[in-house]
Amino acid sequence: MNKEQILSLQLKQKEFFNTGKTKDIAFRIENLKKLSFIFQENEAKILLALKTDLNKSHIEAYSSEIGYILQEIKIAIKNLKKWNRKKKVKTSLINFPGKSYYVNEPYGTVLVISPWNYPFGLLFTPLVGAIAAGNCIIAKPSEISTNSSKLIYELISKNFPEEFFSVIEGGAEITQSIINENIDYIFFTGSTVVGKEIFKSASEHLIPVTLELGGKNPCIVDKNIDIEIAAKRLLWGKFFNAGQTCVAPDYLLLNKNIQEEFLTKLVDFTNKFYGNFDEIQENFTRIISQKHFDRIIGYLNEGKIIFGGKYVKNKLLIEPTIITDLNYHSKIMQEEVFGPVLPIISYEDINVVIEKLNKLSKPLCVYLFTKDKELQSKIVENTVSGTVCINGTIHSIISHDLPFGGVGESGMGRYHGKTSFETFSFKKSILKKKFWWDWAVMYPPYKTSLNLFKKVAKYFY
Ligand code: NAD
Repeated sequence: MNKEQILSLQLKQKEFFNTGKTKDIAFRIENLKKLSFIFQENEAKILLALKTDLNKSHIEAYSSEIGYILQEIKIAIKNLKKWNRKKKVKTSLINFPGKSYYVNEPYGTVLVISPWNYPFGLLFTPLVGAIAAGNCIIAKPSEISTNSSKLIYELISKNFPEEFFSVIEGGAEITQSIINENIDYIFFTGSTVVGKEIFKSASEHLIPVTLELGGKNPCIVDKNIDIEIAAKRLLWGKFFNAGQTCVAPDYLLLNKNIQEEFLTKLVDFTNKFYGNFDEIQENFTRIISQKHFDRIIGYLNEGKIIFGGKYVKNKLLIEPTIITDLNYHSKIMQEEVFGPVLPIISYEDINVVIEKLNKLSKPLCVYLFTKDKELQSKIVENTVSGTVCINGTIHSIISHDLPFGGVGESGMGRYHGKTSFETFSFKKSILKKKFWWDWAVMYPPYKTSLNLFKKVAKYFY
C-alpha cells in the first residue's frame, strides 16, 4: 500500500465512523461474533501459520493465540451492555437544577501494531477491545512472522469491509506512514526502542497511545517455598514459546540457602519436560530469526551451563538452557534475553536485591516464590513493576480481570477484559442544566463581599 492508498482508506474509515454505525451495540456484538467464528473456522490454518513461522506446538499455539482470544470475545459479548452503560454522577449545587453523567465514546480509527512472538494473540486481544468499544480499525501485524501476517490479511479482508476493519502488511516505513492526523488512537506492542519511535511520531499529532513494551522480568526464589512446584511453574513460564514472551521470567535471583537443592530440582524437571533435545525439536518453538539466534547463542559463553547448551543452527532451535555463576555485569544481564536461556544469580540478603531492582529499568513483571507473607508484602510494596505474581510466572497474564501493562520503560496503558474496552474508549462528560432556576450570585457586577462569598461558596462546588 502506498501513501495515497493509506490516506484514502483512512478517509473511508472516517466517513464510516461518522455514520455512527460502529457505535451501535448490535453492530459491535455481531462483529465480535464474526471474529469468534473466523477463529474457530480457521483454527487449522492458524496453527499451521504458527508452526511455519515459529515451529509452535499446537498446545502452546492454541492456548495463547486462539483459546485466550475466544474467551476475551465471549467476555466482551456478555458484558458489553453493562460496560457501555452511562454512569450518573453527583451534580454540584452550583449546577442545580441539573444532571451529570458520562458515557464511553470510541476514539474513531484506531491503529493496532503487533510483534512477531504471538502474531495472533497480541494483535487480536487488543482488537477485541477496539471492536467492543465501537472503533474502526487498522491492524498492522509484524512483517517478521510472514505466514501469520499473510493469513491475518486474508482472513480479515475476506470477512470485514475495509471501511470498518482493515489490515495493512509491512514494516517500519509503512507503519510510520499510517501514523498521521487521521489516526485517533495507537495501541503498540513491541520493543522499548520502537515504542519510543511510535511515541515520538504520535506526539506530533497528539495521538493518545498505549505502549506494551519489553524488558527484563526478575524472578526471586526465596528459601521458604514448595521447591517442586516452584521449579515446575518457573520452567513452564520461562520456556513457553522458547522464552520469546514479554512476561517470561528473564532471570532468576536465587536464595543461597536453597541453591543446591533448588538447582537439582530445576535440572530434574527440565530433564523431565524437555530432556532429549533431539526428540523435542519437532515441537519446541524456534527462534524467529538468525539475528536473534546469534544474539542468544552469544550468551552461552559465560557462566556455568548446568542444563542444555545445544542448538541447531539451520533450524534456529536452541535447547532450554540454564546458566549459573553469573552476576549483574554479565552480558546476558544487559538486555532482554527473549530466548530459552535462564541465567541465575544467587543472593543472600533480600534488601540488597530490592535495592538493586530499584536501580534497574522498571519491568513488566516481578515474580516471587515464597510462602513468607511478610516477604510477599515487602516485594509488592517496595518494588515497581506492572504486575507482581507470587508463586507463579506467566500465569498472571492469563487473567481476564487483571489489567495488564507496564510502567516506565516497560510501557504505559493497560488492557485485557473490561480494561481493553476502557482503553479503546474515552469518557465523555455530560452536564444537562434546566432553565427554571439560575443563581444570580454568579454574575457580575459581584456585589457580595468576599468574606460572605467564601462562607457560602463551599456549599456550591
Ligand atoms: P519491534 O518493536 O521490533 O516490532 C513491533 C512492531 O513494530 C512490528 O509490527 C514492526 O513492524 C513495527 N515497527 C518496527 N520498527 C518500527 C518503526 N521504526 N516505526 C514504526 N513501527 C515499527 O518488536 P518485535 O521484535 O516484533 O517484538 C519483540 C519485542 O516486543 C520484545 O522487546 C518484547 O518484550 C516486546 N513485547 C512486549 C509485549 C507486551 O505485551 N508488553 C508483548 C510481546 C512482545
